[in-house]
Amino acid sequence: MSNKKKVIAWDFDDTLGKFKALAYFLEQNSDNIFVDYFYDSLAMSEDGFGFVEGMRSLLSRLSSRGYFNVITTWATRDYVDASLVLSGGRNIFDDVFDRENCLPEVPFGKRYKHLLKKYDLTRKTAEKDLLIIGDDLKRDLPVDLEKVVFVHHPYSSKAHADLLEGVIDLLDLSGHGNFFAGFNQLLSKCLLGNDGRKHYFTEEGVDLKLYVKRCMGKEIPVMSISMVPEYFRSSLEDIKRML
Ligand SMILES: [Mg+2]
Repeated sequence: MSNKKKVIAWDFDDTLGKFKALAYFLEQNSDNIFVDYFYDSLAMSEDGFGFVEGMRSLLSRLSSRGYFNVITTWATRDYVDASLVLSGGRNIFDDVFDRENCLPEVPFGKRYKHLLKKYDLTRKTAEKDLLIIGDDLKRDLPVDLEKVVFVHHPYSSKAHADLLEGVIDLLDLSGHGNFFAGFNQLLSKCLLGNDGRKHYFTEEGVDLKLYVKRCMGKEIPVMSISMVPEYFRSSLEDIKRML
């Protein structure tokens, strides 16, 4: 497979959308999937089902711009496939790496070695060409990679997906096409926050916390997205005007 394109490894549940309602339904109705019954049971739950607002159009834009979009998940293939069919996302992704591929020996993190092999990435080229996006630091962090940027978005299922497009472009542009270089470039422009962490504020007023996390003896660059509430955003813009 060509290595011309960059790869974005997306966690599934609570990163791309809310799909767990289907898992609950399947547990209770293990014989067959009756779609109407699923939506009936969904209507009674408050959890909702489907992709994050704006996510499907973001994925298709990224794809047309030369990115591979792949799913990396602890979930089973059957569950992911059924979720994608029901949410209208069956043909959006280039690959699904399910729990068979991703689950490591340890009770946290994910293995990405199968993804690397499929996309002709080495551990070295992955620093430049692979970006990992997930909502859960404990589950989604790579256990077999180093210097591959992990975008931690704990509020992904509640935010509009366009927020992520800004973050992906920021990393790509700052590093001139090299995600890890982009991370380091942004790290050098960070401000020290009250929490002792380094923060970068985007022009849209999104607070990005940058740090290096040690995992299995390896160093993972983490960019953690904090939501900026509207009331804070306006005061931030006021501060910027004064500077
Ligand atoms: Mg998740």
